[in-house]
Amino acid sequence: MLVSSLHNIYFDMITRAVSQAAGAELTIRLTEESSGEEESGRLPEGYRECPSLIKRYTFDTFVMGESNRFAYAGAMAVAKAPAVAYNPLYIHGGVGLGKTHLIHAIGNYIHASNPCAKVLYVSSETFITDVITSIGTNNREQLRDKYRTVDVLIIDDIQFIGGKQATETEFFNVFNALRDANKQIIITSDTAPSAIPLLSERLKTRFGCGLVADIQAPDFETRVAILRSRIQQDNLDVDEDVIQLIAEHVTGNVRSLEGCLNSIVAYSDFTNKPVTMELAGNVLKDFVDKDGSKRPVTMERIRQVICDYYNVTVDELESERRDQRIAKPRQVAMYLSRSMLGLSHPAIGEFYGNRHYSTVMHACEQIEKKLNTDKVLKNSVDDLIDTINNNNG
Ligand code: ADP
Ligand code: MG
Repeated sequence: MLVSSLHNIYFDMITRAVSQAAGAELTIRLTEESSGEEESGRLPEGYRECPSLIKRYTFDTFVMGESNRFAYAGAMAVAKAPAVAYNPLYIHGGVGLGKTHLIHAIGNYIHASNPCAKVLYVSSETFITDVITSIGTNNREQLRDKYRTVDVLIIDDIQFIGGKQATETEFFNVFNALRDANKQIIITSDTAPSAIPLLSERLKTRFGCGLVADIQAPDFETRVAILRSRIQQDNLDVDEDVIQLIAEHVTGNVRSLEGCLNSIVAYSDFTNKPVTMELAGNVLKDFVDKDGSKRPVTMERIRQVICDYYNVTVDELESERRDQRIAKPRQVAMYLSRSMLGLSHPAIGEFYGNRHYSTVMHACEQIEKKLNTDKVLKNSVDDLIDTINNNNG
């Protein structure tokens, strides 16, 4: 706070308090000590604004847990040594799991360490729009200026460029130019590079040549830690038992978790009642119904839907049989357990007849690969996901 405002608001109060403590009428003078830079009001030479970065998304406000440990470590490594550690850094995972937060955290960290660095964050939609505009106006220079002069390019949700020829080509060129110039590229997507529908092989290869890290749905402990951190940041009055209640019931992603906490706090504000277990329970019930989380998706739920859809039994899925009638549903079940729940390969293997984790890995890769080319399989998987999510019980 500036001395002038401190003076206006608190001067009398401070004078009274100090005089009282000293037992004598004292004269108080407030002065300000400031750093050289602030004093001159100058920013370091070459300072660049990075308006595309969201300032509140930092590493400090990102809670690390089992589900994001690897991605967090990769992000931190890149933040500390851009274009040295891993290039590109590719982070993938389902919605609301913290990808956007983490990549802004990298950008903010780099910018704080080097205020002259030119850090650009864009969504892939912005990139697509820019390419379309450059074609429409026949002005490639602007596009080049924007994307090829940066020190760090952060591009979010890259999956949307798949199959858009002109955009893919332009991105391929930007990617190569930046890599050659030793500039950092950071990418997010909802799937691994190999599983982005319609994306050209050359981009898949390039996306996979640095570090590929996934973020999975947060486990119970991480959900609790995220809620605690949010409560502390916002200075909210919410007890531990309410935190546990929310973390137990809202399992899907961090966005829903925050949404539920916000609804509970808002309800408590509107009704002017404290956040009790009863109040939280009531809001939670409504929230879980509306949020579509309904009953949590579990491995059991996935297995049941697979059995109904493909007309196979649990025993058959767990058996050693390898004929297509059984092997295919088993592979799809493993793939869905991994992609929808983010479970580890060993855990899935154990659930499906104590299989080795490499079998699960192979199954997931097979399905991911086929989804790109096999339209019938893609439709089946989409239907299955809808049915699994539509879990009204
Ligand atoms: P995504 O880009 O994966 O869809 P976001 O980064 O937009 O997800 O995250 C959704 C919300 O959840 C944001 O408000 C973000 O700050 C918060 N969030 C996600 N993961 C974490 C985490 N590990 N710690 C703290 N907040 C998180
Ligand atoms: Mg995002």
